[in-house]
Parts: sequence; C-alpha cells; structure tokens
Amino acid sequence: MATRPLADDALHEECGVFGVWAPGRDVARLTYFGLMSLQHRGQESAGIAVGDGGTVMVRKELGLVSQVFTDADLAALPGQLAIGHVRYGTAGAKSWEAAQPHLSTINDVIIALAHNGTLVNTDELRRQLIDLGVRFLSNSDSEVAAKLIGYFTQKTRHLREGIRKTMELVRGGYAMALINEQALYAFRDPYGIRPLVLGKLPEEGWVVASETCALDIVGATYVRDIRPGEILRISAEGLVSEQGVAPEQESAECIFEQVYFARPDSIMAGKSVYACRYDMGRRLAQESPVEADMVIGVPDSGLPPAEGFARESGIPFGEGLIKNRYVARTFIQPTQELRAMGVRMKLNPLRDNIAGKRLVVIDDSIVRGTTMMQLVRMLRQAGAAEVHVRINSPEVVWPCFYGIDTDVQAQLISANKTVDEIRAFIGADSLAFLSVEGLLACMPAIGEELPGGTSRGYCTACFTGVYPVAVPESFGRDKFMPGYDPFNMTEPVRLPRDVVVAKDRDHSWEAAHGEA
Ligand code: SF4
Repeated sequence: MATRPLADDALHEECGVFGVWAPGRDVARLTYFGLMSLQHRGQESAGIAVGDGGTVMVRKELGLVSQVFTDADLAALPGQLAIGHVRYGTAGAKSWEAAQPHLSTINDVIIALAHNGTLVNTDELRRQLIDLGVRFLSNSDSEVAAKLIGYFTQKTRHLREGIRKTMELVRGGYAMALINEQALYAFRDPYGIRPLVLGKLPEEGWVVASETCALDIVGATYVRDIRPGEILRISAEGLVSEQGVAPEQESAECIFEQVYFARPDSIMAGKSVYACRYDMGRRLAQESPVEADMVIGVPDSGLPPAEGFARESGIPFGEGLIKNRYVARTFIQPTQELRAMGVRMKLNPLRDNIAGKRLVVIDDSIVRGTTMMQLVRMLRQAGAAEVHVRINSPEVVWPCFYGIDTDVQAQLISANKTVDEIRAFIGADSLAFLSVEGLLACMPAIGEELPGGTSRGYCTACFTGVYPVAVPESFGRDKFMPGYDPFNMTEPVRLPRDVVVAKDRDHSWEAAHGEA
C-alpha cells in the first residue's frame, strides 16, 4: 500500500452504493442525488449504470459526483432502473477501469455491479476465470465478482443462481447492487459486514443504498436492512427475497460505521449515528474524566461525541476548530508543499475561543498519530493552556480486510506504542481511548434477533484482532507485524467448471417469469 499524505491520516471507507427501480422516473437523476448524499464514502470516482429494458449503459469517471455528471450526461441515461457507486480506492488502484459500476458481458448476459467492501479470496478465482477465457480490465476484486456472476449466469440461465453461486465462493465483506436490463438486485455477505438498506418510493418504486441518508434525499421511506446472506430481486413482477447463502449465527456489522464512516443523519440498527456518537462521548467522559475549561470536537465526526462528553462532564462545549469543507482530496497530490501545510489544509483553530483554556479535544480515532500531533501543536500555538485528547473509539491495532483502507500494521501507532508513548508523540497533556466494552455499550440492538434465527453483532477486528471472516494468508500476511499474526486461514477455493443449478431450490418463479 502506498504512503498516505500527512494530511490524510485517517481510515477510509472504500465505497457507497445506490440502486433504484422506478419505471417512469428519471432513474439516472435519482441515482445522482443518492450518490451525492453518499459522497462521504468515496471521493475518487463515481459511476451510474442504467437498464432500459433492452440493454445496460454505464457512465463512470474519476472525480466527485458533481464533477463526473453533467445534466446532459444524466439526460443521456434513460431507463427504468439504475445503480450508482462512489469509490475510495487505495493509492495503487486509482484508474478508470477500477471505477464502478463494473460491466460484465459474457455471451448474451449483460450486468452491471456496484460493490462496497473487499473480497479476500479473488486472486485464485480471477486466475481460473482467465483460464476459461474471461477478460479483465482491472485488478479489482469487484470486477472478479461481476465476471463470476456473469459466468455462472450464462451457464445456468438464471441470474439469481449466478449471484448465489458467486456468494457461495467469495469471502469477505460485501454489499452489492446489480442490474441487468430489467431487474435490480441487492445482496449482502453472510455476516452483514457492510451496510445496505431497502427503501420505498412514495409512488411505485424501490431504492437500495449503503445508508438511510440516501433514501431521505430521494424521498424514499426506510423499509428494512437487506439481511446478511439475502438476495433481493426487484422488477416489474415485484420484490422477491431469498436467502442466497446461510447467514452466520451472529452478524458482524462494521462498528466503524457508527464511529466514523456513516453520516450522522443516517439510522443504523434503529438508532441514529449522531445519537450513537453522542453516547460514545458520554461514556468516554465516564471512563476518562479530566479537569478542563472547554470540550471541542474535531469536525465532523468528533462533534457529536464532544457534545456528549460535555453533557456528561459538565464542561462547556465550544467550537474550537473550523473545517474547510472545500478541500476535495480527489485530485490533491501529496506534494512536499502540501505535506508541510498538513492538517491546516483542512482545519483552522478559533483562537479567540481557545486562548488560555484547558481543552478536551475529542476525535474519532488515531491511526498513525501524525494528524493529531499537528492538531495538538496547532492548538497550543493558538494559545491553548492544556490539551487533553480523548478518542471515542478503542485503539486501532489491527488492519481491516473487509472494505476499509487501513495501513499495514507497522504504520498503526497503537500497534507500536503504549498509550503514554502515543501521548508523548502527539504532544498532549493526557490521552485516553474509549474501551471496547464502552463502545459496545453504545451500539444499538446488540443480540437482537434477526430473521433467519441469527442475532445482531458487530465486527471489532481492528480493535481486538478477532476477525469474523478468515483471510487467506496470501492476501493478508504482509499486513501484520511479526508476533501479531492472528491467522486461522482458509483453504483455497476451487471454481467448478460444470455448473449445475442446485436441485433443492425452487426456481418456479424464474421459470414463470423467464428470468435470465
Ligand atoms: S475491521 Fe474494523 S473497520 Fe474493518 S469491518 Fe471490522 S470494524 Fe469495520
């Protein structure tokens, strides 16, 4: 993985997905609006694919949603159903080919796929598909999924069977939206690691999206989450649900959505992300109190926990940092000059508010520590008398393999230093992290029974090293430092050449409606 610029010392969500089935509506424009509200999940590329009953068209490009699509582009994408995607890619994969949706055309099967997450076992599957004559444009795991689905669909003549076969083979975190000419599909990995929700438009029509904020913008009402392992098909025949693969006994939803990735106005597991972060701040104040004059949050995700910390501690909440909202990272290269400007590109202190005060500074996480070090220095230069840093998540010690761009473990400061060493490195007067138990206590609906006899749980692997999905050694080993290797690895996956439609499943719906 490439070195990040200093001003970009953070974890990154790798994608947001959106899908809509709404004949008679301007589906490309609805998707555009949906993607605008998911822009925080990925700023490197954006794309929309539209199905018009006869074919599937895709437009995708590097850049923000507003940079990629003009009015004319949207007008040139008529149809009844659409999917969209925003992407944050790792530094080595910023290419048009890696942008999504991925189009797969194998013989007469044409599909477009939008994926949020990471598949951990696609190297071998890609090699086997190449041996079978399938062409690839990128090295992306999502393209392997698109080609696998296309491959199985043209073998079985059933798209849902193609999806199901693919779900049986791939491992990792995925929330996917897919279209062919007539139908929208949405499906999620058996642990439900990455989020995906279903919404209903006021008149005829359905929406799927990574977060509920994307339902709000198009006027859709939240119906429910797509369930772990479920496949939804939405078409003129209505909405059909089936279990693509069995869900795991306990789901493992990414806890970092509530900490940092999701928008505060989104609802996850029945609780607003804002309320979750507020509660984390309250809990942090209980666990790690400090005497101070003002609580400030690092915008944006540090603001709700700062309010919660202030409420619980009785220390006044105040604005201490102003964020420049127009620094789009998409085209900013990590030049020496920009590195020198560092965090000032994004944040500037409110000197009048903080001068002479003992500050509690709340942020969502510390990854390398370089950003927090600059921030503390900046606050001291602006006149802060003391700087006490409080983090509303536990220490990030382990890399993520399920759709989040984390550094190799050697770059994670918490894997290398004690809390007091980190405090000294960032130059703070005190430093504390929320405990894992404290974080879990703020999460909604833990243990809630989900349809299919499973219960709701959360992935905490980047804090605890307890990985819900085993990762092939070839994929993950070089991310760990010696002595930190937690592997319990899987066997390689074989791609069956003779595809047989499972006999124990009822395909009468497809037979009746001619699904392909
Ligand atoms: S390892 Fe961390 S960031 Fe990755 S899915 Fe699990 S909780 Fe989320």
